[in-house]
Amino acid sequence: MAIQSQESELHGGSYRIGVDVGGTKIEAVLLAEGNRVIRSARIPARHGNEAVIDDIVTVASRVCEDDFTQVEALGIGTPGQVNHVSGHVDNIVNLEVTSLDMGPLVAERTGVHAHVENDVNAAALGAAAALGGSSVLPGTVAFLNFGTGLAAGLVQDGVLLHGASGAAGEVGHIPVEPHRFKCPCGQYGCLETVCSGASVARLWPSANPAMPDLIRRAKRREAKAVDVLDMVVRAIGDTIQIVAQSVDPAVIILGGGMAKTGEPLVQVITAELRRREAQCRFLESLDLPSRLRLAPLDQPVGAIGAALAV
Ligand SMILES: [Zn+2]
Repeated sequence: MAIQSQESELHGGSYRIGVDVGGTKIEAVLLAEGNRVIRSARIPARHGNEAVIDDIVTVASRVCEDDFTQVEALGIGTPGQVNHVSGHVDNIVNLEVTSLDMGPLVAERTGVHAHVENDVNAAALGAAAALGGSSVLPGTVAFLNFGTGLAAGLVQDGVLLHGASGAAGEVGHIPVEPHRFKCPCGQYGCLETVCSGASVARLWPSANPAMPDLIRRAKRREAKAVDVLDMVVRAIGDTIQIVAQSVDPAVIILGGGMAKTGEPLVQVITAELRRREAQCRFLESLDLPSRLRLAPLDQPVGAIGAALAV
């Protein structure tokens, strides 16, 4: 188990714990005032309901040294279909969980109410906090998660927007992509079939990670790379416009594994948006490229956001 501790003893006051459940590891942070991470811990993820609950309780206990009395809030971010009101989670495919009362079971073991969010929402809030310094970025913030799948998390003045059924920001399954690939959801042409991390890996299998290599080769004018990058970046442009023109965010954060490509990705997206702006005065007036930010790579945004989502 990896534990980092910047402060050995807690000095009264109130703390928040955030736990990020991933497909391969489970990570926790202890947050003090001003959203400062003062401790973190990480363990490999195991499969099955009991192991998942055990692991969440283990990492949470580590960061507060088994003393939950000073913990005012405990939040968990997880893949799967999350009911953020009840704390129930269905279908965490990578961890072999089909149905789990995650929030109530963790609360029972820790004595602290445990709030559960989907992992994209948690990362959205965590990234908005990390970019905001001591407070979460104000106003409307959109976080685009180019992970295995494609989804957005929407934050309004530090509060997550869930919608009526928790589906706000599920832009990956909007079926507007012109190549009309079949999506596992049953539709054809979902944005996720072209511009998620998994899709880019499928479209450009010659390198892992795919995106940096794809951009490099397209810059060298390799014909196949130019075609594939064009397809991917157009879908990203559509995704950004759909989110931007729906909620008009002041900041659009690029996150998920694909965003680790960094500045080269921002550059190709900016070029695509500028190309569109040249055809549309309205779009030009929005100046979307100026709103783009990369999610910070040096901070555990999923765990931080889980702590703040409570
Ligand atoms: Zn779909």
